[in-house]
Amino acid sequence: MTPLEDAQSFVIGACPPLPPVTVGFEQAEGLVLAAEVVAAEQVPPFENTAVDGYAVIAADLVSAPIELPVVDEVAAGSATDRVLQRGEAIRIMTGAPMPAGADAVVMVEETERVGSDRVLVKSPVPVGAAVRPAGDDVQPGDVLFTPGTIIRPAVVGVLASVNAREVSVHPRARVAVLSTGDELVEDGGPLAPGQIRESNRRMLAGLLRDTGCDVVDFGTVRDDEAALEAVLRRAAGECDAIVTSGGVSMGDYDVVKAVLGRIADMRWMQIAIKPAKPFAFGTIDGTPIFGLPGNPVSSLVSFEMLARPALRRMMGHPRLARPSHVAIADDGLPRRPDGKVHLVRAMATFEDDGRCHVRGARAQGSHQLAATALSNAIAVVPDGDGIPAGAEVAVVMLEG
Ligand code: AMP
Ligand code: MG
Repeated sequence: MTPLEDAQSFVIGACPPLPPVTVGFEQAEGLVLAAEVVAAEQVPPFENTAVDGYAVIAADLVSAPIELPVVDEVAAGSATDRVLQRGEAIRIMTGAPMPAGADAVVMVEETERVGSDRVLVKSPVPVGAAVRPAGDDVQPGDVLFTPGTIIRPAVVGVLASVNAREVSVHPRARVAVLSTGDELVEDGGPLAPGQIRESNRRMLAGLLRDTGCDVVDFGTVRDDEAALEAVLRRAAGECDAIVTSGGVSMGDYDVVKAVLGRIADMRWMQIAIKPAKPFAFGTIDGTPIFGLPGNPVSSLVSFEMLARPALRRMMGHPRLARPSHVAIADDGLPRRPDGKVHLVRAMATFEDDGRCHVRGARAQGSHQLAATALSNAIAVVPDGDGIPAGAEVAVVMLEG
């Protein structure tokens, strides 16, 4: 059996980052920067007020309270040509440019209007009060973001603020997903003897989207060599990667093995984990293909442990693995030695003691997806006799 870490480094190593593309910043959200972003403009673009109030000359207020004539008004989006003189005030709204001559803003709460054209300023303010200098956030030439930065919404906001309209990013991986097996039906009708409803492809498509990939659904392919070969060749031509479900187990009579053995450069693995021991990885004309086992829980675990980090690398992500914590196994996680690491689906929560606590899902069979579906974590239980109640165990979060 292959240790999980060896399988992971082999698979990840065979999935280099996709070449960068240039996209508009609005299309870049969720993608990873491939080149640094240098500011061409300053933010804010001009000196402006942080509050609604009155632009003043601070030296006029030393003996406040004091009444000043209001000689003009300036709103955000406009400007005034008037140069503020000693003993005057200009009404000003948040974001409006500072009038020439003014060196501070008194917030409206510290004032009282007197008639239509005068204001009582109640107390003095220092020079620069409530003034936001030009370039206070960003200076031209600032290196704002480096390669590997994930373009989160706030990053998009910054790109917009400096007018960086196009950015170089790693594209979303376009990933083909298909399931294989004559037993699978998906038309919603009654099940004939031996049939089951197709479920993995729907799950895997969702996991792929969640990973940030564009999904191309190639459907369910019958156990027929010619049909499978045609679909796989088309998928390899159209997509950056392929994810298949089913047909990679030991001793299977399966057309998946026959076809991939012929048209792909494959490595068939028995990974020292439970569930998800069988796994295949290879390339068809350079396109990576992840052969996930058909048992639904195995398919999920295999995707999480092997396909997801590799696909993230293709999309330039700096962090490939899910977040992990050391948790307390409240009820214990018993097991028997078998040479494998057990990946126990579990619910992990942070509790009032500041610790992460974990409890195994009620059913751990590789066909029991219903029990796994509500899990948010995988407890990594090393080979041996398991984790006693109250002891620590590593958990990999399935979210975040
Ligand atoms: P296989 O890996 O093809 O040997 O399949 C292992 C088990 O998973 C069998 O019980 C299959 O019926 C089941 N299975 C395979 N593919 C799927 C699928 N797409 N959806 C649900 N169950 C599946
Ligand atoms: Mg099968």
